[in-house]
Amino acid sequence: MRAKTIAIANQKGGVGKTTSCVNLAAAVAMQDKTVLLIDLDPQGNATMGSGINKNAVEYTIADVLLGQVDITTAILAAEKSGFSVLPSNADVTAAEIGLIQIDNYQHQLTKAISTINNKYDYIFIDCPPSLNTLTLNALVAADSIIIPMQCEYYALEGLTSLMSTIEQIKQELNPKLKVEGLIRTMYDPRNKLALEVTEQLIGHFGSLVYKTVVPRNVRLAEAPSHGLPVMMYDKASKGSKAYMDLAAELLMAEEIIA
Ligand code: ATP
Ligand code: MG
Repeated sequence: MRAKTIAIANQKGGVGKTTSCVNLAAAVAMQDKTVLLIDLDPQGNATMGSGINKNAVEYTIADVLLGQVDITTAILAAEKSGFSVLPSNADVTAAEIGLIQIDNYQHQLTKAISTINNKYDYIFIDCPPSLNTLTLNALVAADSIIIPMQCEYYALEGLTSLMSTIEQIKQELNPKLKVEGLIRTMYDPRNKLALEVTEQLIGHFGSLVYKTVVPRNVRLAEAPSHGLPVMMYDKASKGSKAYMDLAAELLMAEEIIA
């Protein structure tokens, strides 16, 4: 068994990357899969949202990327959430500088993951809102990328530059990288623009656009302050249902390929 590694990325801020990463991790874990969430964002939101205090951890992803600690030592169990977490916090910002001093630094995360690949079914990586060296490490290590996006006017413009980055990484560093899917987040079907953007998205990306949309749902925004994925916070909420449906779509695509 080798884990399927999925980076959740979009250089645009606040589009729902972390919300999607934590809740997909939890929803996939609920389907009897072993899941690791790697928090690559110095904001540490995915760490906190999974129920781990980012300020109380001994090691972070920074120590792993710099080769200072074995990855298994840094991984913690987020017990209530049902998956494992490789945490992040503000220390990771400083690590970026050390990281680029390392030969072939783009492959540091890939190297670390290769030693634990057989322990998990899925690894989800929460990326920071930029195409920096951390995100580059994620896209080199990943089998695929999930792109959360809000259906707004500038969303497509940002996607074009993300797609060209993905293409470049594919050619130079990671030929297996593919787009797993695009998630429409904070979706409001009453908004005419959302429908227009959806039409254009499907025109460009076809079946890569997930059928499930994630509605704007206050439970999704509240859950992280309790350190819980939305299914554990309010299972009956629309947000919970959306991420359960998305997980089913993700796992289904896997079965069709297998
Ligand atoms: P960043 O780029 O800063 O890492 P992000 O892309 O990870 O941001 P999130 O942190 O997931 O985005 O979401 C941004 C904000 O929107 C958060 O406060 C989150 O709780 C809220 N949010 C995300 N998705 C939804 C939703 N479907 N309904 C309501 N609120 C949401
Ligand atoms: Mg985030």
